[in-house]
Amino acid sequence: MRLSILGSCAGAFAVLLLAQAAAQDKPRIVVLATGGTIAGAAQSDVQAGYKSGQVGVEQLLAAVPQAKDVAALRGEQISNIGSQDMNDEVWLKLARRVNELAAMADVDGIVITHGTDTLEETSYFLNLVVKTKKPVVLTGSMRPSTALSADGPLNFYNAVAVAANKEAAGRGVLVVMNDSIHGASALTKTSTTSVETFQSPLRGLVGNVAYGKAQFYRGAVGRNTVDSEFSLDGVTALPRVDIIVAHENMDGKIIDAAVAAGAKGLVIAGVGNGNMTAAALDALAAQAKKGIVCVRSTRVPTGTVGRNVEVDDDKLGLVASDDLNPQKSRVLLRLALLKQRPLADVQRLFREY
Ligand code: ASP
Repeated sequence: MRLSILGSCAGAFAVLLLAQAAAQDKPRIVVLATGGTIAGAAQSDVQAGYKSGQVGVEQLLAAVPQAKDVAALRGEQISNIGSQDMNDEVWLKLARRVNELAAMADVDGIVITHGTDTLEETSYFLNLVVKTKKPVVLTGSMRPSTALSADGPLNFYNAVAVAANKEAAGRGVLVVMNDSIHGASALTKTSTTSVETFQSPLRGLVGNVAYGKAQFYRGAVGRNTVDSEFSLDGVTALPRVDIIVAHENMDGKIIDAAVAAGAKGLVIAGVGNGNMTAAALDALAAQAKKGIVCVRSTRVPTGTVGRNVEVDDDKLGLVASDDLNPQKSRVLLRLALLKQRPLADVQRLFREY
């Protein structure tokens, strides 16, 4: 009897050791939670109204136990906000933490949960300032955790699987949503409510992921992470850059008002190929002459803004955004303005990143 108890204790101990060894073999992924709908909750499972950022990181991890089969996970709460409230303080904290974790030998990858409203900006910002080839994967959801057919759990599971996949390394910061793997420089939110809201219209998908099985189609497009010239060393604040949307009958007053409010750079979400009324263009060129760095992007969802196409950028001292949409142009311009540069150098950044 005594022997059999000893025997079963030894057996249980062996199972424990095996389980520990298996856990140690798994890629070690840190989950940084920032809030968003993936951490949102509603009163009922069919209610459209809900509040972002209600569920903490531990609850999020517990809600998708399957993810622990793919990776050894631990979580940290960076913030718990709807990403409409994303701000520089959280960006700087998040980027620094990613850089610290990525430098640790016992971290193989990082997953960041985030709201979808500004996911394209945060992922692109990280793509430019984190210094690692290890996978950094953002994910979110369109439906709150309490909804019927919530998309968060599978998005999270897929994001962990991609972060744990060695093939994801060196492709820049990635975003996993709705079975697609997007590059941070490529994706944009295209629907206010649909689960297939994110598209990468010009640069295309990096890959696909189905229940954790990933397929990769391309590497990074545009300089990023370890190849990026941007760094947050010594940076405590980012310069103000405003986005102004062009429209019929636009005058230059809003351009002047933005500069009066403290903007050091402006991005115009132009009509068509980065165009605007003659009055707006006059106001923009006048601000450019005074040293405000002015970028022409477009309010059109897809297509590039070419230099000197319908607007004489050389003569007016303007920068064309190439294939960056207004919100990504703003991110790049804020980082560009951390140091004094000739306009030609700012234009180079828009070609290279
Ligand atoms: N407003 C939410 C957010 O960006 C939307 C979402 O996450 O889907 O946090």
